[in-house]
Amino acid sequence: MKCMICGNDNLEYRDTVISDFVMDRISEDFVPGKNRKTRLCYCPECTFAFYEYRMTDEEQGRLYRNYRDEEYQKTREKYEYWYTPKINEALNNDRLALAEQRRVIERMLSENSDKIPEVSLDWGGNEGRTFTRKMGNRARYVFDISNIPTIKGVKSLSSFEEVKKHNYDFIMCNMMFEHLSHPVEMLEQFWEAGGPDTLYYIEVPSENPFMVNKFSIKKNLKLLVNSKYSNTRLAKYYLKRRKEPFMPMAEHINFYTPKSIRTMVENAGFTVLDVQENVEKAVLGDATVLSIMFKKK
Ligand SMILES: [Zn+2]
Repeated sequence: MKCMICGNDNLEYRDTVISDFVMDRISEDFVPGKNRKTRLCYCPECTFAFYEYRMTDEEQGRLYRNYRDEEYQKTREKYEYWYTPKINEALNNDRLALAEQRRVIERMLSENSDKIPEVSLDWGGNEGRTFTRKMGNRARYVFDISNIPTIKGVKSLSSFEEVKKHNYDFIMCNMMFEHLSHPVEMLEQFWEAGGPDTLYYIEVPSENPFMVNKFSIKKNLKLLVNSKYSNTRLAKYYLKRRKEPFMPMAEHINFYTPKSIRTMVENAGFTVLDVQENVEKAVLGDATVLSIMFKKK
């Protein structure tokens, strides 16, 4: 196995499996305990971490179809006891997280450019709620495979061919690269979609599964005393988790650090303008978000 970002073939591995929830979503007849095996890979060279198993387009389609609707919630709660309808609803309407996301993007835009982008694209932007005037004051587009209707003032693009018809000052992509089976190929599409002056922005969670232990215990303790969850359910959940292999593969299949995201973007031929880590507030607690701004060489 080679590192998907830098090509290094001297990786570190941890054996694990695909999580019950993901198995249930992507396969027709999942029997708990018969989870597909995989390995979590870590590249000591560029510090990128990822699962060896890469979902097919069809499997990704099944996993993300009608994302966070009622069926999604029910299936997930079957295996992850804390994932109640309330939590699902809170995540779907996380205004705090949205405001924080806009704050960081606007600030990075103003720090790296003296112009307000006129035409902007949000790649994977759902209904187009992330845009503010400062992220596209003339035209705002969304390209998203979910094809859900966009909000007023945001136009929806339905294919890559359509994406290429416009000239963008700004292309952003939020919280998507951690889910992608082929992130490097996605960057090639970004290259095709932009021009010589297009500013690009990608954000992902800042995560390194080989360094999270101390942090995740703290986070779990915080969850345990949170009155939003019932303690019996949580106790059941943590007992089950203790018997599981190391970090079963869930929705995040790529884990980025400032170093690995910079390497990925530079290897694709772009010039990096800025990399930042910002703590953003969200409904389930603070999260460290990793942001990168770049343009074509
Ligand atoms: Zn690497």
